[in-house]
Order: sequence, then structure tokens, then C-alpha cells
Amino acid sequence: MFDVIIAGCGPTGAMLAAELRLHDVRVLVLEKETEPASYVRIVSLHMRSLELMAMRGLLDRLLPHGRRRPAGGIFAAIPKPAPKSLDSAYAYLLGLPQPVIVRLLEEHATELGAQVRHGRAVAAFEQDDEGVTVELADGERLRARYLVGCDGGRSTVRKLLGVGFPGEPSRTETLMGEMEAGVPQEEIAATVARISETVRPFWLRPFGAGIYSVVVPAAGAGDRAEAPTLDEFKQQLRAIAGTDFGVHSPRWLSRFGDATRLAERYRVGRVLLAGDAAHIHPPTGGQGLNLGVQDAFNLGWKLAAQIRGWAPGTLLDTYQTERHPVAEDVLDNTRAQRELLSAEPGPQAVRRLLTELVDFDEVNRHLIEKITAVGVRYDFGEGPDLLGRRLRDVEVTQGNLYGLLHRGRGLLLDRTERLTAGGWADRVDHLADRGAALDVPAVLLRPDGHVAWIGDDQRDLDDHLARWFGVPTG
Ligand SMILES: Cc1cc2nc3c(=O)[nH]c(=O)nc-3n(C[C@H](O)[C@H](O)[C@H](O)COP(=O)(O)OP(=O)(O)OC[C@H]3O[C@@H](n4cnc5c(N)ncnc54)[C@H](O)[C@@H]3O)c2cc1C
Repeated sequence: MFDVIIAGCGPTGAMLAAELRLHDVRVLVLEKETEPASYVRIVSLHMRSLELMAMRGLLDRLLPHGRRRPAGGIFAAIPKPAPKSLDSAYAYLLGLPQPVIVRLLEEHATELGAQVRHGRAVAAFEQDDEGVTVELADGERLRARYLVGCDGGRSTVRKLLGVGFPGEPSRTETLMGEMEAGVPQEEIAATVARISETVRPFWLRPFGAGIYSVVVPAAGAGDRAEAPTLDEFKQQLRAIAGTDFGVHSPRWLSRFGDATRLAERYRVGRVLLAGDAAHIHPPTGGQGLNLGVQDAFNLGWKLAAQIRGWAPGTLLDTYQTERHPVAEDVLDNTRAQRELLSAEPGPQAVRRLLTELVDFDEVNRHLIEKITAVGVRYDFGEGPDLLGRRLRDVEVTQGNLYGLLHRGRGLLLDRTERLTAGGWADRVDHLADRGAALDVPAVLLRPDGHVAWIGDDQRDLDDHLARWFGVPTG
């Protein structure tokens, strides 16, 4: 008997497993593939995800594998640098291969005590009042108190749950792969520069050692799962650029569409959905993996609280009320970006106008905060603007705030030095620090780093501690 079974060990499932283990939850992750993904696409970790990694002491593991890039110029690839004063100690973008992120997150989860079994696919499940019986493709049956589907866009868990996945089907499909080319690099660069003015996305980017990253629109659209062939690449290159650049010896080939869909519900009883299993959208702006990891951060401590028995009645349901609107917003911004990338005259005119507007720092900042999720504000009711937002990594006397959040507990950061979270000491740390770089007297942080309370009144604080952390034990 496990507390939680997670279907899928992608970035979302691995992150969720680690977050649950911080609270001693017995976690089993079932991953249908035996080997890591063969594709090595480079994905971007944005500011909020970098902050989350720093909050759990993971950023130092990731940095040596990635390449830092400026945080600006991401929205619809409008090439404008970020304003100087972005409100984050991690105001950059980290590009790194997705399989490396998955490997490092899985390692982190297993070091914390999560069990991960590869080559084990979830095929069916049944839930009752006490738990969920999960059946694997090989017929084995396992039991857990909760099941979380982190099994990607074609999620078996979501389909078995019968949760609707409304939205728009793929309108265009793109081929992506790595291969060698048979013509000189200068010749390729000149043709690509010409074609990519009107065809997006389209590139052959040298990767070193004669290898190119190739991206070219496919002939048709559809939600096809199977990998494309080299011939399909050649045909499309010839149709669009008039030459196939002599491409050969592919390392890997894949395709992706631009379907946009959002699960109607994130929870049905003891079964929940997170990451691509709950939402899919085009990769414009590089947000999907970030969104999934952030889902895991939101869900992990709440599900752990439910299992440990201290969760206030509606805490687990706030996973959906907080995260569904965030995904809706991401879907919307990718729809907008897709239009802005179209070569049609109307969208091009809107793009020119928006390009002018991005010269205003506030517009630029707004778009960057949207893409990087540092602008997310959960609705915690009336209060100052900081309430419901994440707190940046501020300096405290002992060093930096995020260095104190590795254990995934709540934190009362208290400049008054006269408050207490004593009754909740098993769930919430208290840092009394007059020197903390805060411009409010005290904040209560949830384990995901969002501000759950601001003030200096003990009674009000106690109410909020009870709201988020349940009945006091001390
Ligand atoms: C071209 C491209 C570029 C992208 N660039 C970015 C980027 O720059 N930044 C970004 O944030 N995102 C990017 N994304 C999106 C990102 O790759 C996905 O959003 C991310 O992989 C979602 O993670 P996940 O863990 O939710 O799902 P997945 O990565 O799909 O993982 C799901 C896992 O579940 C497993 N599984 C499936 N079914 C079962 C089952 N029945 N039982 C057990 N296991 C199962 C799968 O094998 C898989 O390992 C990009 C996507 C594409 C296509």
C-alpha cells in the first residue's frame, strides 16, 4: 500500500514525487518507458521555475548542464531586451535538454526516498472511499490512497477518469529533429535566413560536429503519435526551401502539433491530474514544462497535508481553483503568440503595433512576468498586492530566504520578532529577523513560496495559520 502512485516520470511526475517525499509520503512513480526519451530538445526554464529550483536547493545541479540566456525577447519572439529591474534574483532563462531535467529531478526524488519503476504502464484503475487500485499493463495490481496522472498530453489517467479535454485540435504540425547535412554551412545559413522571414518556425541550426537541429512545418496537421521519417523531412525541406540540404544520418526525429486543450477538472475523488495530462498548448514561449513543474509545487504539499491528516477541509481543492486559471492564462497567451507569429498581413500589423508597445517597460515587464509565471497571483481574498503572489528571494541575516525553504515547510518571516507560529511548529518554521529585506512587518509563506498572510497581528496570523495549516498541535 502506497500513499500516492504517480503515473508518469516526466518533469511533472518526478517533481511531484520529490515534493511529496519532503513530507514523508510513501510514493511510487510508474513510468511506461524503460529508457530515457531519445529526443534531446532544449527547453527553457523560466524565472519562476528557477526560483522553485533554488527553493529546493536544485538550481546548482541544473546550472552546469544549461546555458543562461537573457529573460527578454521571448513573447512571440519579439526581439526586445528585458527591462533592467526585473523583480527576481534569477532574472534569466536557462536552456537545457529536457532529458537532463528529467534525470536530475528523478535523481532528486529517489534520493529523497521515492520509488520509481520504469517499464511499468498504468492501464486501468478503480477508486473507492479508501483508495485507488491501479492495474498495470502487465496485469499487476497496486493500491494507493491517491493516484496522480502526470502521464502527458495523451494521458491514460485522464481518459479513464472521463474528464473532458475541450479546446482546439492541431491546426499545424511541425517536424523537429537532429541530423547531418550534405552542403556547406554558409549555403544553409543563407537559404534559412531567406526562408525564415516568411515561414515560421523554420531553421537548420548548427549544433557542432556537423549536426543540425532541423525544424520545418509538416505537410498536414493531426494529433499523430508516431515519429516522422527522414523522407518526410526531405520532402518538406524541398517543398519549402527548394532543397533538402542533403540531410542524412538522423539522431532523432519527432513531430509536435499546436493543439490547445484544458482538462475540465483536475480532481475526481482520489485521482488528480497535473502537467501536460491537464493542459496542452503550442510550445511558443516555452511554458509547458514550467507549468507542469509549478503544478507539482502547488499540489505536493497539499496532497501531503491531506495524507498526513492536517489539511484543512478544502485545501486539496485549492489545487484546481488556483492552477486551472493559471493554465487558462497560459493557453490564452500561446493562442495570442501563435497569431502574432503568422505571416498573414493582419497579424503582422498587430505584431508591429505590439513591438512598438513593448518599448514601454511596463508592457515588456507584464509580458515577461506572464511567460515566466512570476506574475501569478492566487486569489486569497482582499489584501495588499503581495498577498497571493510569490515572494522573491530576499536577503535575510542568515543569507537568502530561499536557502531556508529546502524542506518544503511553511515559513513565518517575522521582522517584528514578537510573533509566533508555535502551535504549528511541526509544519511551519519561524524566522524572527529584524534584518530581513522585507517592506512589510511579517509574511506567512506557504511551502510553495506564495504569500498567505501579511501583517503584525498575532490573532489574525493564527486565523491564517489555521486556514492553510490546519488545527494547531502545540
Ligand atoms: C518542440 C517542443 C519544445 C518545447 N519547449 C519547451 C520549453 O522550452 N519550455 C517548457 O516549459 N516546455 C517546453 N515544451 C513542453 C514540454 O516538453 C512539456 O510540457 C513537458 O514535457 C510536460 O511534462 P509532463 O511531465 O507533464 O509530461 P511528459 O513530459 O509528457 O511526461 C509524461 C510521462 O508519462 C509517461 N507515461 C505516459 N503514459 C503512461 C502510463 N499509462 N503509465 C505510466 N507512464 C506513462 C511518459 O512515458 C512520460 O515519461 C516543449 C514541447 C515541445 C514539443
